[in-house]
Amino acid sequence: MMRSPGLLIRAPLGVHLPGTHPPTTDAPPLPAADQGSDLTATFVGATTLLVDDGTSRLLVDPFFSRPGAVRCAVGRIGPDARTIDSCLRRLGVDRLDAVVASHSHYDHAMDAPYVARRTGALLVGSRSTTMIGRGFGLPEEQMALVEPEDALQVGTLTVTFARSAHVAPVHFPGQISAPLTPPVRISSYRVGECYSVQIRAGRRAVLVQGSAGSVTGALDGLPTHVVYLAIGVLSRATSAARERYWDEVVTAVGARRVLVTHWDNMWRPLSLPLAPLPSVVDDIPATMRFLAAHAARNGVDLRVPTSWQPTDPFVGLVG
Ligand SMILES: [Zn+2]
Repeated sequence: MMRSPGLLIRAPLGVHLPGTHPPTTDAPPLPAADQGSDLTATFVGATTLLVDDGTSRLLVDPFFSRPGAVRCAVGRIGPDARTIDSCLRRLGVDRLDAVVASHSHYDHAMDAPYVARRTGALLVGSRSTTMIGRGFGLPEEQMALVEPEDALQVGTLTVTFARSAHVAPVHFPGQISAPLTPPVRISSYRVGECYSVQIRAGRRAVLVQGSAGSVTGALDGLPTHVVYLAIGVLSRATSAARERYWDEVVTAVGARRVLVTHWDNMWRPLSLPLAPLPSVVDDIPATMRFLAAHAARNGVDLRVPTSWQPTDPFVGLVG
């Protein structure tokens, strides 16, 4: 990749606008999963992750509609059925066991009830997330309210919820306290409870961290080899908060591999290749320098996930 100051020329995901920088690491992207993989994960931008152990599958934070910046700023938003259907087809998903929301902001929970209805999945999340499901008309028996430290069996997958926090400053704080029926203003998608979500299949476990915040001690005792780590606006956090994020999320679970998420421009449709957040919003190179230094010091394998491609997140990790 060639780069000049302030201008990225090209990257594997496609051509990017001047003033934007996708995350890069020394390590190449993980290879596509082969037939023998006993757990695969597919990243689809933001913190959307499809996890599949061959028997059960779930989607964390499905975000496909991606309304544009102007609509988000001044209009009303809601799930876009046609776009979601097309993304599910592209993912090869028709049935799901669960749809999990790590918190209730629109880019994590807005599409979740539609995906649940479309795939017959259980919608799993906080009280605020269930209000999004209720307002969408999802039946009560198709929703599971979870509290911190709850573990839920989803087919052959065990899903454990740890208390977490949102990166500061938190947009739209508070709870969604009444059923939310879209289209609504973006501010109606209040953050609600934040969770770190661990998904375990046998001896293998991945952690999905939906926002770059942490709660001291919340992940102690939840060993997890692979973390899908949200890095959005981590560059704007204080250096103490950044250190805490690494310690309380990556070190606390004993992670051996970190894949960075929530770095792409969420106002851009998924019909286009992912593009990073503009530099004025987020200094991604600064975040990657911070992560690379900590990863090297702690023997953690730092990667950038390839979108739309099922991978074995444990490939190359011994034990
Ligand atoms: Zn959020």
